[in-house]
Amino acid sequence: MKKALITGIGGQDGTYLAAHLLSLGYRVVGTSRSAGARQFEGLESLGIRHAVSIHSVNLLDFDATLRVVFREQPDEIYNLAAQSSVMASHARPAETFESIAVVTTNLLEAIRTLAVPIRLFSAGSAEMFDATGGMPANEDTTVRPQNPYGLAKATSFWQTAQYRDTYSVAACAGILFNHESPLRPEHFVTQKIVTAACRIAAGEQDHLHLGDISVQRDWGWAPDYVVAMHKMLQLDQPEDFIIATGKTCSLEDFVREVFAALSLDWKLYVRHDHGLVRPAGNRCSRADPTRIERRLGWKAVATMADVARRMVSAKLAGSSLGAMQRAA
Ligand code: NDP
Repeated sequence: MKKALITGIGGQDGTYLAAHLLSLGYRVVGTSRSAGARQFEGLESLGIRHAVSIHSVNLLDFDATLRVVFREQPDEIYNLAAQSSVMASHARPAETFESIAVVTTNLLEAIRTLAVPIRLFSAGSAEMFDATGGMPANEDTTVRPQNPYGLAKATSFWQTAQYRDTYSVAACAGILFNHESPLRPEHFVTQKIVTAACRIAAGEQDHLHLGDISVQRDWGWAPDYVVAMHKMLQLDQPEDFIIATGKTCSLEDFVREVFAALSLDWKLYVRHDHGLVRPAGNRCSRADPTRIERRLGWKAVATMADVARRMVSAKLAGSSLGAMQRAA
């Protein structure tokens, strides 16, 4: 039986990855900054909280990182822990950098120090790229981050490559484009839109205020993406891959799908709020996931419209409107 250690197991991807690995017969352990203080609602909602053990570990501390890796001796480590919000990274750049770059270094160094054949997946991000002038980004696209989060992810990406090249650590980075699910926290715009639209449909809210809805992103479904993470670590010689759908949509498209799923015309409810416009950055991200499809046979299944509809369904299932619809 293989064992996996997932950092940030209580987050969106950690939860779905734990479920996927358990379904493959893995023993799964995880880390959290404070396991005792967290509810792990996602793991509870999938009915797998009892199936994973979770350590409280400060991954900024090298000795603590070394101890947990030595104690667990996993076959695979998936490093998903991070301050993962681009918006928050503008306000908390040092915390963002530490939570990504220092943690990546500590994990890589723990593997090198122990000299054990542990494989490491590092969660990279599309935010390490600048605008690509309409061209889709691939694994060879120039790295030029435009925000503190992207800068931290770029650092982590090169740290992973350096340990692979210099010390032969079996490490790789997945360059993840946006991926969503009902487990997305409400401070991310997609969940904010879904929550507000469901409240508007229930008559509990009048309007939704958004910043620039012309920004374009490649949105996928988180449970699809954790399958790619696992596949990447099964290669004999780990490589970095873009993980994306290959289809770019605007935030306006996402808003339209969400409101349409509730039989509402979004234009009647959405108000522009200039104060919510992000500092300058990449307004259009495009991805070319050809390499992962060719090398690993992985392809995103769900489209942006599927993602929007599934998030609405999940929100309704737990909302007053959902209760009314079930009662009708
Ligand atoms: P989440 O924010 O849902 O989960 C990350 C977890 O990291 C948190 O639950 C938290 O767990 C832990 N964490 C560690 N340090 C910090 C910190 N300083 N501040 C806040 N949380 C911290 O992220 P996702 O599951 O969505 O993403 C997984 C990984 O993939 C992350 O590295 C993210 O940056 C990356 N990624 C995600 C994308 C997406 O669209 N979802 C796109 C591109 C990259 P705890 O509180 O238990 O310690």
